[in-house]
Amino acid sequence: MTLVPEIKTAENPLPSNTGKDGRINLVGLSRSEMEQALVDAGAEKYRAKQIWLCMYGQGIDDFSKMSTISKPQAAKLAERFTITRPNIDRALTSTDGTRKWLLSMEDGNKIEMVHIPEEDRGALCVSSQVGCTLTCTFCHTGTMKLVRNLTSAEIVGQVMVTRDGLNEWPSGSPNRTDGTPKTFTNIVMMGMGEPLFNYDQVAKALTIVMDGDGLAISKRRITLSTSGVVPMIEKCGNELGVNLAVSLHAVRDDLRNEIVPINKKYPIAELLEACRNYPAATNARRITFEYVMLKGVNDTDADAHELVRILDGIHAKVNLIPFNPWPGAPYERSSNNRIHRFAEIVNAAGYSSPIRRTRGDDIYAACGQLKSDSERKKGEKVKLHKDE
Ligand code: SAH
Ligand code: SF4
Repeated sequence: MTLVPEIKTAENPLPSNTGKDGRINLVGLSRSEMEQALVDAGAEKYRAKQIWLCMYGQGIDDFSKMSTISKPQAAKLAERFTITRPNIDRALTSTDGTRKWLLSMEDGNKIEMVHIPEEDRGALCVSSQVGCTLTCTFCHTGTMKLVRNLTSAEIVGQVMVTRDGLNEWPSGSPNRTDGTPKTFTNIVMMGMGEPLFNYDQVAKALTIVMDGDGLAISKRRITLSTSGVVPMIEKCGNELGVNLAVSLHAVRDDLRNEIVPINKKYPIAELLEACRNYPAATNARRITFEYVMLKGVNDTDADAHELVRILDGIHAKVNLIPFNPWPGAPYERSSNNRIHRFAEIVNAAGYSSPIRRTRGDDIYAACGQLKSDSERKKGEKVKLHKDE
């Protein structure tokens, strides 16, 4: 009998939406919570929609700048409420255009997010937790001690900070004010943390992000990545309908137990069964299987053939991720030749298997690296392209 270790979840309490000054942050409240908060403060219920359109559709964070709100009303609202994003501690831009922000929350916890632009589109990599309770051996986030779930305010806040930083308000229009196309079109929940261990806050945040009156990012442009929290996968597909990515990384349980330890609780067969039944997957919306290429560990031809075999019957595509090294990591990146050979085998079986380009290497764009770098060198200046 194998002993299945208990999986720790983030036990630290969630911070409340009430700031140190006693005012309530409206960011991250559901529409009905916002209506209730306004009614409790003596405002009319219909104000909620007006404020929602301004804060999420146009990025306005000052009630007095909302054209639908009168000056006296704005002053009253500002006594009770704020529209607060996380603070930007650092903002870096890579030579290839990738941007990375280190954000601090009101309680001092820090998270990071990365925006990867393409010509007329681009994805923001959003975090769901501070750190991660899981301990995948190749992942730097897994080595961080402090863990707490992010609130929906902190998750939605990441999206708002990015719209601010890229000057991509208001929603709805395909272009920025200078006429160039927007590059923040997609969201991938692939930053720090395991989103399905913080499902309630992630679901609340994504519901706000998808709302057509506000940020209006469609479920087809949102991908949630999980290490394999099997019992939550179906719920995620039914309730949110977003695209699913699964961090597979190994095709045999003995190896996956080692490198993705949640596999001891939810082994490969159970994970793939949940993928087969994922409600939001179709031929046009395939599940992405992420596979990090670790030299001499999971990158043989035999591994590629086995991958093809086990994916049979799933609407799948494969994303090969060259391992992103971090200081002290126990792995190396597979050679380019090896990665290409692996891709060829998977491709020949009819699965699209793009190799993820490494982006933003000069700004520590790998998971968790900027945060740890800031902890190591407190006070030291970044020598890179610091914005502002
Ligand atoms: N916890 C979720 C989402 C965050 S991790 C998950 O595990 O899916 C996002 C992706 O980055 C995962 O596929 C993860 O395995 C991968 N990843 C983590 N560290 C990496 C590294 N050093 N190099 C390459 N990919 C890495
Ligand atoms: Fe957590 Fe994902 Fe990193 Fe694993 S790969 S430790 S689940 S963030």
